[in-house]
Amino acid sequence: MTLARIALKGLALRIVFLGPPGAGKGTQAAMLTDELGYQHLSTGDMIRDEMARGTELGQFAKTFYDKGNLVPDETVIDMIKFRLADIEDVILDGFPRTVVQAATLDDELSKIGVSLDRVIFFRVDVEELVERLEKRREIEGRVDDEPEAIRRRMDVYNRETAPVVDYYRDNDRVTEIDALGTIEGVRERLTEAIA
Ligand code: AMP
Repeated sequence: MTLARIALKGLALRIVFLGPPGAGKGTQAAMLTDELGYQHLSTGDMIRDEMARGTELGQFAKTFYDKGNLVPDETVIDMIKFRLADIEDVILDGFPRTVVQAATLDDELSKIGVSLDRVIFFRVDVEELVERLEKRREIEGRVDDEPEAIRRRMDVYNRETAPVVDYYRDNDRVTEIDALGTIEGVRERLTEAIA
């Protein structure tokens, strides 16, 4: 099914993108939201915005962010909670990143009588990821794409976020896509998975 048909069907979609750093979640989320008019909620972008504005939250988050560590659950949940009360047609990118965040998201959605429509897991090869992140560092200059921070983020992913995939797998909510290859190829597989 094409994206236009997804839009035409008027499917209300609350989608979570899961996968390791550099798997292409942000790129795909931005493309889909542009085409379908969905909201793209990226906690990473929200944190970068807080840091750029030098807010108290941003200064606190920076101490974790720069090293490639996760910002504490309470901080991220406080930051995103008010955005969850009224979400429809949204792609959550980079949240939830821990099982505590995933359970909180379920609770918040159940309070408003809705649930997630799709959880998409971006499956990739670690070697390719490191290469992608190194390229991104050359282009975007993100401090957390420095080699040491990349290693830390991979460790953090394996320890904290991989269990989130299992959390959703336990109740059969995961659709897995092959996220290797060209942006266009991934986009096609993603569209299939969402439709
Ligand atoms: P991202 O842009 O999604 O790769 O996130 C970049 C960084 O922001 C992460 O390495 C964390 O330091 C922080 N971050 C983003 N989302 C979360 C989250 N849901 N929980 C904790 N930290 C987060």
